Order: sequence, then structure tokens, then C-alpha cells
Amino acid sequence: MFAAHAQAPSVTLAPDVVAAGSPELIRVAAPAAATLEGEWLGQKLAFFWSPQGQAWYTLAGVDVEAAVGTSSLRITATLSGTGGGTTDLSRSIEIHEAHYPTGTLTVSPKFVAPGPAALKRIKAEAALKAKVFAASASQPLWSGDFRAPVHAEPTDSFGTRRTFNGQLASVHKGMDFRAATGTVVRAGNSGVVVLARPLYYEGNCVVIDHGLGLYTLSMHLSRIDVHEGQHVTKGQLVGLSGATGRVTGPHLHWAVRWQNAYLDPAKLLQMDLDSVR
Ligand SMILES: [Zn+2]
Repeated sequence: MFAAHAQAPSVTLAPDVVAAGSPELIRVAAPAAATLEGEWLGQKLAFFWSPQGQAWYTLAGVDVEAAVGTSSLRITATLSGTGGGTTDLSRSIEIHEAHYPTGTLTVSPKFVAPGPAALKRIKAEAALKAKVFAASASQPLWSGDFRAPVHAEPTDSFGTRRTFNGQLASVHKGMDFRAATGTVVRAGNSGVVVLARPLYYEGNCVVIDHGLGLYTLSMHLSRIDVHEGQHVTKGQLVGLSGATGRVTGPHLHWAVRWQNAYLDPAKLLQMDLDSVR
């Protein structure tokens, strides 16, 4: 247990109502000298100490397609030395249903029934993405609130269950902005560009690693202005919006990913992170 004079340890989540698709800022009130270990929804949690917030934090989230019900958030804090020991801070987290709309779309047939050459390309790109998403920075690279990537009208398209050409059904895992081709696209926060190239479905795509498993993805760009390995700061130009890949017209598709989970970008943009780092 912690020393008697220490503040009582506690774990809080923001937003406090957890739903499928929610990003979650997890705050652990434990001493700076503690070592924290955590796991939630089958993923390890990596916490960082915030001198500003005087607590441990991590940004995580619940996938848009996650099952509703009770989940177990496991966190332990260990203090070495006199008065140390391990404290179990685990708690149950209820995952609530999120109500997302349904819709239908018509795209080029090659995106619904890709031919052999396209399938080979799609498979190679899937392997590349898996590699990229398995190698996030071990420290948070973001700083303060996330900002919208474009000055354009957002749509409430996240989580929509869609049917393509009356056949293929899928869940829309990002937010579409109504951006004309050539609209400036900026980094939503600081990080490292880990992918910047044309992909079959995504078109010209830029993925930024913000550390600790958190990424933002910009798709369908008409131009890419960054290269893989480049550090970018919040608001830096990454490219121009367009209509490349599987689209019905020009727009920016912006997605937020934590580990394997796709999160609601609108909710990330609403989070108060200025007080954290
Ligand atoms: Zn989209």
C-alpha cells in the first residue's frame, strides 16, 4: 500500500460515459515514483507522468465495433522502497451502446470486387500497415488539444454502417470532412509520419504516430507533402485533400486509431488535453 500520507490513489476516465468508439483519457492519481502497469480490452496500457496534471495519464479508447457490456480495466501501481508495495487500482468499466446511422454508397466496381492484381496489392498493403501500427513510439509525442486537420465542414459519418454498391457492408471508421480537392490538410497534433504513400483503398495516405499506440490517418489526398520518418508539429502541412482511392467524390477522411481500435475523431477533438501535456 501507499504511505498513509499519500493522496488516495484513484482512476478516472474522461469522457466518463464510455461508449463504443470513445477515445478515453485515463488518469491515475498515484505518486510520480510509482511504476504503473495496465491492461484494458486486451491491450497493454502505457502511462506517462504529467508534471502539469501531477498524475499518470494515457490516451486509449474503445473500438467502434466493440461489444457493449462490462470490461475490466486492470491497473497496478508499485512503489519501491520503504512504505512501497503494490496497489491494485483495477475497476470495471461499462461500455455503452453508441447509436450510429446506416447508409448506402456507390463506388467504382474495382473497389467492391478487386481483381487478382489488386488483391495482391491489397494484401501487401495490409502487411505494411500491420507493421506500421505495431511500432508506435514509447512516449507520447502529442502536445495539448488535437485540432481539426482541415478548415471544412465535418460530417457525423463516424460509425455509419454502409453498403457499397448493394453488396459489401462495412463500418465507416473515420470522419469525413467536406473538403474540395486542394484543401490544405494539417497535422492534428505533433508526431512522426510513419506512412506517406498511395494505397489501394485509402488513396494517397498519411499516417502520423502520436506515440503510445495512438495514430491519426488522412486519406484520399491529391498531394502528399511529408515523407516517412519526418517529425511534424501540430498544424504543419501534410498534404492537400482530394479524391484518390475508394471515394464517391472529393473529401478528407480522417481517422483516429489506438492499438487496433478506431475511435471517433469528433470526440478526440473535444477532449481537453492542454492541462495534461
Ligand atoms: Zn470516409
